[in-house]
Amino acid sequence: MILRCRLCHAAIAAFDPARLTPPLTSAVFGPLAPGFPPPFLPGTPWDEARCPHCRHHPQGYDPAGRESLATDAGETPLPRLQTADAKRKTAKRGN
Ligand SMILES: [Zn+2]
Repeated sequence: MILRCRLCHAAIAAFDPARLTPPLTSAVFGPLAPGFPPPFLPGTPWDEARCPHCRHHPQGYDPAGRESLATDAGETPLPRLQTADAKRKTAKRGN
């Protein structure tokens, strides 16, 4: 899948939707084609990731846009953070 910038609509990065596990990190996003540099500097927190074309955040700045990504397949919702309650239930399994 291709990540597009919500503000300038440029294709920025390639990513595997299966790896979009919260909290989102910029490391999930690779170059558009092999041999190109990664779109974001390694270790960049997602909040500080910037579109290489317009230098704005790829999701834009509207809080409503934080729940999804603009992609070549349209708006793609991000998986929700697992709640603390759900984590506790998972940890209890096997007791
Ligand atoms: Zn942009």
